Amino acid sequence: MERPGPHGLPPLDPGRSPAVRLRAAEHDERRRGGPERAADERFRALVHHSFDAIVVSDADNVISYATPAIRTMFGHDPDALVGVNGFDFVHPDDRAAARQRAEQLLARPGGAALQTFRLVHADGRYRWVECTSVNLLEHDHVGGLLHTFRDITERKDADDRIRANEERLEALLLHADGAVLVVDTVGRITWSSPAAGTLWGLDESELVGRALTELLHDEDRREVVRRFTSLVAAPQGQAARVEGRMRHADGSWRWYESIFTNHLREPAVRGIVANVRDTTERAMHEQALRLSERRLEHQANHDPLTELPNRTLLHDRMTVALARAGRHGTGLAVLFCDLDRFKVVNDSQGHSHGDALLVEVARRLLAGVRPGDTVARFGGDEFVVLAEDLRGPDEALELAARLARAVAEPCSIDGAETVVTMSAGIAWAADADLEPEVLLRNADAAMYQAKEAGRARAVLFDDSMRDRAVERHQIEGALRRAVSRRQLQVHYQPVIDLRTERVVGTEALLRWRHPTRGLLYPATFIGVAEDTGLIVPLGAWVLDQASAQTARWRTRPGQQDLFVAVNLSARQLADESLVEDLASVLAASRLEPRHLHVEVTESMLMHDPAASIEVLERLRVLGVRVAIDDFGTGYSSFSYLRRFPVDILKIDRSFIHELETEPDAAAIVESVITLGHTLGLELVAEGVETPEQLARLCDLGCDQAQGYLLAPPLPAAAVPERLRVGPDLDGGPGPMA
Ligand code: C2E
Ligand code: CA
Ligand code: CA
Repeated sequence: MERPGPHGLPPLDPGRSPAVRLRAAEHDERRRGGPERAADERFRALVHHSFDAIVVSDADNVISYATPAIRTMFGHDPDALVGVNGFDFVHPDDRAAARQRAEQLLARPGGAALQTFRLVHADGRYRWVECTSVNLLEHDHVGGLLHTFRDITERKDADDRIRANEERLEALLLHADGAVLVVDTVGRITWSSPAAGTLWGLDESELVGRALTELLHDEDRREVVRRFTSLVAAPQGQAARVEGRMRHADGSWRWYESIFTNHLREPAVRGIVANVRDTTERAMHEQALRLSERRLEHQANHDPLTELPNRTLLHDRMTVALARAGRHGTGLAVLFCDLDRFKVVNDSQGHSHGDALLVEVARRLLAGVRPGDTVARFGGDEFVVLAEDLRGPDEALELAARLARAVAEPCSIDGAETVVTMSAGIAWAADADLEPEVLLRNADAAMYQAKEAGRARAVLFDDSMRDRAVERHQIEGALRRAVSRRQLQVHYQPVIDLRTERVVGTEALLRWRHPTRGLLYPATFIGVAEDTGLIVPLGAWVLDQASAQTARWRTRPGQQDLFVAVNLSARQLADESLVEDLASVLAASRLEPRHLHVEVTESMLMHDPAASIEVLERLRVLGVRVAIDDFGTGYSSFSYLRRFPVDILKIDRSFIHELETEPDAAAIVESVITLGHTLGLELVAEGVETPEQLARLCDLGCDQAQGYLLAPPLPAAAVPERLRVGPDLDGGPGPMA
């Protein structure tokens, strides 16, 4: 019934189960008799009924036999395979390797080889197989290579998937910018991802076995341990995030963020998984961001030069302070401080010098207040001090005096000594309902009072000042328009030679014909003009007018030596182009330089003696004469005077006034005249109002005089009359302008 296959292997016998067939084989064996025969039979049955496909080939791999399972496995008819080269079924890519293994096997009779490759299915698709080949060429019964195939396609796919997953995981862990650690319940590291070590500058192997806490910063440890322990007790899958610092092997502290997840009950993990990321850069970035935010905020509220709070911050602090003062019933003062003649320093010494001075003043003010007080830079050379918890206005005045003394201390900038004084206005906040703006305005008004009272002092605000402050403000605006509206005029006060009793010159004095307030004297507006800088164009205009006017008068007979004296402001003296400007004014008016006198005060010269001497020397070269105005009110130092190249000394009217009343005055005036003469100076007496004063001055040898007694300042049109007619020295006061 059975067609014997080649090599004596049984042909196909489908339909019976292997067990049944096995029993049948035993039966056959017993029936046929002989153990050898029985073993053969059993082998044959095993091969035939095996689920594994078995193929026998010759040394050249030509198939001589295939078991029925070949059909189930590969869809090929086993009989049809006979005579076909087995390699024809192997995937082309695997063929070379398979051939090589087969050849090696041929050299080893009885040897076996295991390999995997792809075999083509009858449907054209390839299946992965595991092939065990045994060299049975010398076997009596088989006489060939016995190949057993097992289809491993599914297993291989699963393996591939697992391997791919593993590879992916490995890659992820390797390339992830963090570390993955598995930590046991007591915090010991039991596993680490490949790249984990780099986070700490350690070898990955150095991590395993370590306590996680070893890596942490002392200050962060408690918190991490607390989180970790509560996570150990938490349900599977629960996570916790911690942040902190950890020690790098290079000794630095790095910031990290770690996410702990409870995987204690997961068989593959059995631990707490820590996902650790180095956040140092992010932390630094955030820190930089916070810093720059703070810097921006600082910039918005501080003056860049002095680093003091600016107006904005001052306003906030004042609001808070006023509210606090209201609650506690304590006193509060605002000091409005303005440097005297700072603009002169700035214009003459340069801005960097001015800046350095401001910084120094800021430092001194800060050093002079209490820690809770505010010193703010209000603008330019203005500072505002906000002082809290004061007992009363007197204490505020004391504070102002203390600050003023500190500011007035000489300070050395770039090796040059500069002295600057400060005027302060104080507003005492007795009423907490005051607005910061009102307090500031009051302090500002008081500060202007301090300026007007002669600078370098502190004045406490009272209500009467409010109107004056408003007035000042109005003056400034009106003065700006005054020049173009031709409201300004120059009046001329004759100067008389005491020997000849003739008018030898005039002093040009500025007047403002105000549309509603009538004729205004310099006292009401010259301060505003100086503070606002308007004095510079005004002064230039006066020079122009006075020179042109005097040049015209000099064309009259007998007036060839008439001079004009023009008052200079500190700003003009500090102006680098002063000498050039004077030269061009003289050229335009055709006035001889020696007929132009400029009047400056001692304090103007003393502000920066070196620079003053230089300017005066250039003026002397130009030929313009220089007079010291108001002599006796300032330093009144002849030793200083000697250093300045000046020509004329004008004795202040306060001395002239005292000539009759104060016994000392005559002695002083006499010594001034004598000393002046020894220095080669011409002496002019100012403000001569009585014949007695005049007589004394003549006795004392004074050269010239001016005053209401002789002639008041006059409009230009009224001057020629005085030039023609000599003054009546014995007569009463002349007509007022
Ligand atoms: P100053 O230079 O001392 O001018 C003399 C001042 O004394 C003038 O006041 C004049 O009117 C006044 N005066 C003249 N005779 C008598 C007198 O017998 N008795 C009294 N009590 N006063 C007398 P004025 O015109 O009001 O000028 C005041 C100050 O304004 C001047 O003082 C001067 O410093 C300044 N000033 C006037 N015009 C100018 C100007 O064009 N430029 C600058 N920078 N300052 C000027
Ligand atoms: Ca003068
Ligand atoms: Ca004067």
